Amino acid sequence: MTDPVIIGSERSEVGLPSGIAVLRRGGSALDAAEAAMRVCEDNESDHYVGTGGLPNARGEVELDASVMVGSTRAFGAVGGVKGFPNPISIARAVLERLPQHCLLVGEGAELFAEECGFTRAVLLTEEARRLYLEALGQDDEPVEGEGEGATAGDRRYRRTASALMRRLAPHAGPWGTINVLALDAAGELCVAVSTSGYPWKYPGRVGDSALPGSGNYCDLRHGGAACTGRGEMAMRACGARRVVDLLASGMGPAEACAAMLRDARSLPDPFAAELRALALTPDGRHGGAAGTPGSVYAFMTPDHAEPELLPREPVA
Ligand code: ASP
Repeated sequence: MTDPVIIGSERSEVGLPSGIAVLRRGGSALDAAEAAMRVCEDNESDHYVGTGGLPNARGEVELDASVMVGSTRAFGAVGGVKGFPNPISIARAVLERLPQHCLLVGEGAELFAEECGFTRAVLLTEEARRLYLEALGQDDEPVEGEGEGATAGDRRYRRTASALMRRLAPHAGPWGTINVLALDAAGELCVAVSTSGYPWKYPGRVGDSALPGSGNYCDLRHGGAACTGRGEMAMRACGARRVVDLLASGMGPAEACAAMLRDARSLPDPFAAELRALALTPDGRHGGAAGTPGSVYAFMTPDHAEPELLPREPVA
């Protein structure tokens, strides 16, 4: 018997109690991670995941999510999904019902979600739309002669694409993708990641959250890891896989996350922004690292009534 534990990135606190409830009654790490993440995705005041997520440059909410199971290294993911509030469950369905594939994107992912019976919903809340228009820094008036059929935001995006890309600064306060890592009583590990991606991203852009090895990796021999923040750097550094390799080499979870972040930071990136990582080992050790001092992650065991916040290792 293993002592169950669940950890999550900033703003996972709303979901972790649902995850630990699953683990407490002997449920699987996959069920726990999905249950926790669904609550996060349904939290409208969280603007980086699910309903209420910030839109792409055209004002459309496009979601990425993935799950990976440690013993089999089975992986299921969706990218660029519109109109479905719980991409984590579609990712799980890819893992379980479509084992010949790992990742579905866009229209195909939406077709599959419909086949699975998931319900469509409007994901762009009034608040997220207001933040989008505010970020564009302009009003919503169409501009004459800039293309029939395009949205006002689309026309504006084309005019200001590079300026817009340089204005990707996150809001004040904890932001980014949500990671949930769970270890169950049977000793299984699962990593779940869900995001609305970088706000105002180019339509069709898929980030690290949907990619095995980048935003999510889980190998029961060594541990699981996940990233939040500047997804392109997690992709270029193969962040999550790198953390797991460092765990395999004998590093502790926080140390492995910090070493990966230092490596990612050494790469040239004109859009450099915060990247964070979290890791959980099969024997229940956990830790994280971040570039911003004072960053935390949340964790719960069956003995916790509510999530406890622990510091991430700061990477200067
Ligand atoms: N990692 C996410 C992405 O690049 C963004 C984030 O965590 O804020 O899509």
